[in-house]
Amino acid sequence: MKSPFPRVGIIGAGQLGRMSAAPAAALGIDLILLAQSATDSGAQVAEFEVGDYRDLVQVREFAKKCDLLTFEHELIPISVVRALESEGAKFYPTSESFIYSQDKAAMREKLAKYLAPKWQVVTKANEILEYPAIAKSISGGYDGRGVWRVNSESELAAILAENPKLLVEELIDFDFEISVMVARSPHGQAATWAPTQTVQSDGICTMTIAPAPDLSESLGQQAQQIALSIAAEIKLVGVMAVEMFVKGDQLFINELAMRPHNSGHWTIDGSVTSQFEQHLRAILDLPLGDTSMTAKYAVMGNVLGGDKQDMYRPYLHLLARTPKLKVHQYRKEVKPGRKIGHVTLLGENLVELTTEVQHAIDYMGGVIDE
Ligand code: ATP
Ligand code: MG
Repeated sequence: MKSPFPRVGIIGAGQLGRMSAAPAAALGIDLILLAQSATDSGAQVAEFEVGDYRDLVQVREFAKKCDLLTFEHELIPISVVRALESEGAKFYPTSESFIYSQDKAAMREKLAKYLAPKWQVVTKANEILEYPAIAKSISGGYDGRGVWRVNSESELAAILAENPKLLVEELIDFDFEISVMVARSPHGQAATWAPTQTVQSDGICTMTIAPAPDLSESLGQQAQQIALSIAAEIKLVGVMAVEMFVKGDQLFINELAMRPHNSGHWTIDGSVTSQFEQHLRAILDLPLGDTSMTAKYAVMGNVLGGDKQDMYRPYLHLLARTPKLKVHQYRKEVKPGRKIGHVTLLGENLVELTTEVQHAIDYMGGVIDE
């Protein structure tokens, strides 16, 4: 007899695939990852196959082994997803939604009724009259790669020389950035977690705080409403991050990321249901889990690679110093600036939490040695 437990295939085997393995195991769901290499972060802890996500034939073979497919990075060509859908494969989120995460210009157009930076798709530098501005690759950017602050027409021309078509946006002088994680299932049940404040440096997220401490109660509710409304509008299935800029009492939509997201990592330790479990529940059309927080605050810090290679030895000091610290190691090769893990701390005193998290990530990354 075929097992009643479904087999979920994830395209990609990075840290998001890795962090999906524990909730899948707990629910008894079989997970299989399409990895680029056997040493991928996720491939170290789950069943996997090595294959090329850009190759329809290889993805089709992989899909045959799964009841349902999803992805943990946004690089899979939408043409591959569409081809498989037309052959009857179940792919969540569907290509119809996924396009708004993969194509920032399509997203801007689709979400035109929400407040957002003014934007324009350009191929020539003289089409932009106001500087400074923000130029973005329409597809494929991550961790600030593919995002440039441009101060003049000649700077924009130089970027256009390498990237023939760009999305150029009004630069928003925001007060801070937030992200709202939202989940939605095929039957339309939806849930959000507490809005999360994200702290970036050099275009990369370094720390998140949930609930966003600088956000008023009413703006927080509004942000959650916006995320739910976008999720319904694009017929999301799965989890998604809605990144927003907060300026005064205004919320500007920045972008959508249609998968578990860095700004939701705190939910593993700080919410009744983590984003990884919720994603599985959502794509399987199971009832969604409770998104309540289990503490007043959850602070997450990304460990960025530095000179230090040994990521195990720091445990001796860190785990003794902060017994409540939760460490998530991705077991990726340490490269400068690369996200190689994260830590989460729950509690009530925000100053203490951010100090301890900052200490932990600095110590792990080799920025400090005591
Ligand atoms: P991620 O870091 O989430 O992978 P990404 O590389 O796809 O994202 P965006 O989120 O679009 O890129 O931009 C990265 C960062 O650049 C934002 O978090 C924000 O700090 C800054 N930024 C982007 N667009 C604007 C804007 N219109 N005005 C001001 N700052 C912006
Ligand atoms: Mg972003």
